[in-house]
Amino acid sequence: MTIHDDRQPTHEAGPHRTFDSLSPITGDVVASHPLHGEEDVAAAVLAARDEAAWWGALTFEERSARLVAWKGVITRRLAQLADLVHQETGKPHGDALLEASLGIDHLGWAATHAAKHLGRRKVSSGLLMANQAATVEYRPLGVVGVIGPWNYPVFTPMGSIAYALAAGNAVVFKPSELTPGVGEWLARTFREAVGRPVLSVVTGFGDTGAALCRAGVDKVAFTGSTATGKRVMAACAETLTPVVIEAGGKDAVIVDHDADLDAAADATLWGACSNAGQTCTGVERVYVHEKVYDEFLGLLVAKAEGLRADDSLDSPLGPITMPKQLDVIRAHIADALDRGGRALLGGADAVGDRYVQPTILVDVPEDSRAVCEETFGPTVTVARVGTVEEAIRRTNATSYGLGSTVFSKARGMEIAEQIRSGMTAVNGVITFAAVPSLPFGGVGDSGFGRIHGPDGLREFTYAKAIARQRFKAALPLTSFTRTEKHEQQLVQLMTMLHGRGTTLPKLGRKVRRGR
Ligand code: NDP
Repeated sequence: MTIHDDRQPTHEAGPHRTFDSLSPITGDVVASHPLHGEEDVAAAVLAARDEAAWWGALTFEERSARLVAWKGVITRRLAQLADLVHQETGKPHGDALLEASLGIDHLGWAATHAAKHLGRRKVSSGLLMANQAATVEYRPLGVVGVIGPWNYPVFTPMGSIAYALAAGNAVVFKPSELTPGVGEWLARTFREAVGRPVLSVVTGFGDTGAALCRAGVDKVAFTGSTATGKRVMAACAETLTPVVIEAGGKDAVIVDHDADLDAAADATLWGACSNAGQTCTGVERVYVHEKVYDEFLGLLVAKAEGLRADDSLDSPLGPITMPKQLDVIRAHIADALDRGGRALLGGADAVGDRYVQPTILVDVPEDSRAVCEETFGPTVTVARVGTVEEAIRRTNATSYGLGSTVFSKARGMEIAEQIRSGMTAVNGVITFAAVPSLPFGGVGDSGFGRIHGPDGLREFTYAKAIARQRFKAALPLTSFTRTEKHEQQLVQLMTMLHGRGTTLPKLGRKVRRGR
């Protein structure tokens, strides 16, 4: 059966028009789903308002208990969820299991850390305002719209959903049209565990996502391509709806001369080819110190030679989930080869009808598409560099800035600090995504805002500051009863507090950033 990337509604009957999600492996229909239009989305957001009022009024502990109950249901049905992810994305069962497990871990962290990071706390009120008790807390925004991609249909949206829910918001989730079943599964199990649809789902194509941006939600958390991110932001600008944009990347690996080369090759291969290269923080470029270039390349090619993508049950690589991406991958490889690049593995014939074989490209010009644009396939370019400084410069010469990887024994942290990306893994790959307390997000074309960790919780809140007067101020500064004498006293106080810093203190040695 051939794959059809048919974006037209497939059924007109019943209360809703519906569309089908298809298996990228067989092209068979996995299930039919409602095609939700503007009115449906508006109704979902309206219903979510009631849920937000109830959910937001619960204590952190009460919400945590409910989220932990949901986590239990998901965990006990992990095999079922992994099977659905496998059916809709085509990724191997083991990868689906890993993805869902990481999503569960994030849910657990968000559920149990929201009180600590968002609850009311005292802050210093300063000498000038010593009569005030100052507190800050982080209040839920209300209803958050989450728009997710298909490549990690559990892990990626969970980075927004779990954190937004733990912060006290209701969520309306629009999954990718390629993975609507996973979205529905998550909402169904939430309702089962919690008893109310605080997490709800709307399904459909891009228009459904666009409707969600205009439906009056209090924030949109978007994960997807940079191009769609710009459209989402433009739509949200009409109503001043804040957005988090988690967009694409062009992540690089830097391999220093003292690196553990076997580990670096292993990590590069997995980072480039796992999930058939369809990972936002996947490895797409490698810069290797010239002293170890040949050895590293030999190891990488040797490890990659055994790796194949096919439809056998135990294949480590699945198909390309979105059929039109095959054209992009083909074009990037062709551009690299046309411009003097060489394929040490794979190459022009690597791109089939559904599967792409691992491809290792060398001698590729830095301004070619394979080096500059997100390929989103199991391909990687490897370049020789004279120094680590050159590797850093070339790594940073991109409009993206999502993740990065460094392999070095002596200089790992130092190199990591100099890379312009939201996240860096040192002597590992993509490890930052699995640490729930670390923020996840990018700079530049990779977007802005953060999911995961304390920053990810705060992303779905607004800061509420309260200054409560404890006793009458000695100086009536904010009153028309203020006199000239009070103003003189203010000047004396300011001189005492802030008047000494007339010259820069001598810095004995170079100030280094915290480590
Ligand atoms: P898309 O940008 O095509 O789609 C993302 C989501 O936006 C989908 O749900 C899509 O719906 C929806 N959408 C499409 N058009 C609109 C619109 N006008 N308004 C609102 N929503 C819309 O991305 P992909 O699904 O193809 O995902 C792959 C991309 O996601 C890659 O670039 C990857 O790097 C990035 N990504 C980033 C991550 C990160 O955390 N930084 C993580 C994972 C992926 P529909 O599918 O129905 O068209």
